[in-house]
Amino acid sequence: MSDDPTIFEQIAAGDIPARIVHETETILAFLDANPLAAGHTLVIPREPYTKLEDLPDDVAAELWTTVQSLTSTIETAVDADATTIGVNNGSAAGQEVPHVHVHIIPRFDDDGGGPIHAIAGARPELSDSKLDDIAASIKSATST
Ligand code: AMP
Repeated sequence: MSDDPTIFEQIAAGDIPARIVHETETILAFLDANPLAAGHTLVIPREPYTKLEDLPDDVAAELWTTVQSLTSTIETAVDADATTIGVNNGSAAGQEVPHVHVHIIPRFDDDGGGPIHAIAGARPELSDSKLDDIAASIKSATST
C-alpha cells in the first residue's frame, strides 16, 4: 500500500467529490473524471492496495463480482454495444494512480477504438522452446 493517501482513497473517504455509482463496505465504483466513453467507470477496493496481486482473496472476489454485475448495468445505462474491461497493473503498464482500479469502458459499434491487443508495442519473436519454458515456469510456480 502507499504511504500517502491516494486520490481514490480520498474519494473513498468522501474528501474529494466523485460520481459514485455503487458502494459497499469494501468496494466503491465511480465515473472516471476523464472518460474514454460515456459511462467509463472505475471500480476500486476502498483500501489502497497498489497492484492486483496485493489484494486479499476476499477483496479480489468482491471486486470482480462487482465488475461483473456493474458491466451489464452500465451497458444498459449508456446503450453500449460492448465493454472493454482492463487494469493498468503497474507503472510500466500505464498505471497512474497507485491504487487498484478496474476500468469498465463502454464500447460502441464504429467507435473507432481498438481491442486490448492494440495496447502492446512491438510483438516479441518467441520460439516454441522459449514459449514452452515460459509456460513451464508459470505452471511450476502455480502448482501446489
Ligand atoms: P490509470 O492510468 O489506470 O491509473 O487511470 C487512472 C484513471 O483515474 C484515469 O482514467 C483518470 O481519468 C482517473 N481519475 C483520476 N483522478 C480522478 C478523480 N478525481 N475522479 C475520477 N477519476 C479520476
